[in-house]
Amino acid sequence: MLHEISPLRLDNAYYPHVIQNGDTVLCYQGDAILVRDQGGVSYPVFDGKKMDPARFIYLFAIDGQKYFLSFRAVWAPGFRFQAVQKLRGAQPQHLAFAGVLGSHLYRWYRARKYCGVCGHRTVHDGKERMMRCPACGNREYPQIMPAVIVGVIDGDRLLLTKYALGEGRPARPHWALVAGYTEIGETLEETVRREVMEETGLEVGNITYYKSQPWAFTGSLLAGFYARVVGSDSVKLNEQELSQAVFVSQKEIEVPYTNVALTNEMICLFRKVGPEVLVRRDPMRQEPYGPAEKRETFR
Ligand SMILES: [Zn+2]
Repeated sequence: MLHEISPLRLDNAYYPHVIQNGDTVLCYQGDAILVRDQGGVSYPVFDGKKMDPARFIYLFAIDGQKYFLSFRAVWAPGFRFQAVQKLRGAQPQHLAFAGVLGSHLYRWYRARKYCGVCGHRTVHDGKERMMRCPACGNREYPQIMPAVIVGVIDGDRLLLTKYALGEGRPARPHWALVAGYTEIGETLEETVRREVMEETGLEVGNITYYKSQPWAFTGSLLAGFYARVVGSDSVKLNEQELSQAVFVSQKEIEVPYTNVALTNEMICLFRKVGPEVLVRRDPMRQEPYGPAEKRETFR
């Protein structure tokens, strides 16, 4: 998946670092990022002769290489703004992940320039990633929206869905799984039951956690579950949410493995092992079938 950059390591703790020559600059405008893509993506590098260090905010490091955010376009010949979405599946993977991850932080910083309580200009805290209001003392921490993805299983069949068409939705939706955001006051398991019921009218049990994925495109943390249909398998489609929801047998699933998104991995894992995905796994073990056969597992 996009965030799986091992053996490289993400250090996402905040430090009040000042940018130095050679550090990487992530620069965004709306949904676009300043990038060069010539057989592999790259980003501008800080040059103290041409750029003012005070304008950059430290984001994170990958294997010691530091990444900083710039709100204003930097002087970078050969680079151009392109949609962050285009980084899905781009190489090298750790740089694609860095650009996508940075976009979540960029949107958060952009939305927290002013205090949400009193409207005063906020300032960055000196010790942690937090925007503080000097007028009223309000503290704003990075915001992540939890959401679930659910592989709904009936015998040897998996429920595949397509989003309804509409504003802000893909023009040609892929096959996906039931998914939705957690509401205030519910557990992830309750989100699973509610979303499956709302979108398809199905009741599920045997809810089994699979894996999670940070999904910066929507500012989310995705939690993947498999669950079994309890009672009737008759789908009552919520046409506001979905255009299709059909049970497809394990052998008839035709979805290519893309190594980017949790939804895709969950569909491909079901095709490989069927209802065995409902057997509870050791949550501390990252890869259900071992890293060596990682790609092969899901094909
Ligand atoms: Zn305030």
